[in-house]
Amino acid sequence: MMQAAIHQSVLEVVQSDITQEETEAIGNAANSRLAGGGGVDGAIHRGGGPSIMAELKAGYKGCPTGSAVITGGGNLKAKYVVHAVGPVYSGKPKDAELLSSAYRKSLELCTQNKISSISFPSIATGVYGYPVEEASRIALKTVKDYLKDHHEIKLVRFVLFDSTTYRVYEEALKELTGGK
Ligand code: ADP
Repeated sequence: MMQAAIHQSVLEVVQSDITQEETEAIGNAANSRLAGGGGVDGAIHRGGGPSIMAELKAGYKGCPTGSAVITGGGNLKAKYVVHAVGPVYSGKPKDAELLSSAYRKSLELCTQNKISSISFPSIATGVYGYPVEEASRIALKTVKDYLKDHHEIKLVRFVLFDSTTYRVYEEALKELTGGK
């Protein structure tokens, strides 16, 4: 685990299973149809039970890439799930914008719903193929920039499933806090 004070808040990276998190919200790496799937999306729907899919179906027609929608957490410990849609990696400059926007929209949903703590998975670096080094820098920088003007968010935690991804995020956090 590594922790850093960012503005008035705490930014953490841990290696764990996000479905076990007790932050008020957890982020999901969803697809734009909000149809559920494998990876972390599948694990969150399995852990939360059918109410999450029911809410998605009733409330949303899908979600554009780079945006996010919110549901309750069903049987999860987290009260909310923020379903963010990252880009399928293409190697074009737009990827970075869309990934950053997926995190930023998720944080905006936290502010709007008075959520002060959220855990994120590494959005888009699984099946969507985004290289972890670049994705980790974008993720952490986007959160840091948001926290500058949003002290209402007290804790943002990145929950990385495997040790390789964890180490890359840890390195990126060191870079972000040690550097300029
Ligand atoms: P995407 O389609 O956005 O790439 P994936 O679910 O394929 O999403 O992968 C995103 C990241 O989530 C990967 O690093 C994967 O290892 C990780 N992951 C899978 N299951 C879990 C889990 N239970 N908790 C946290 N991270 C997970």
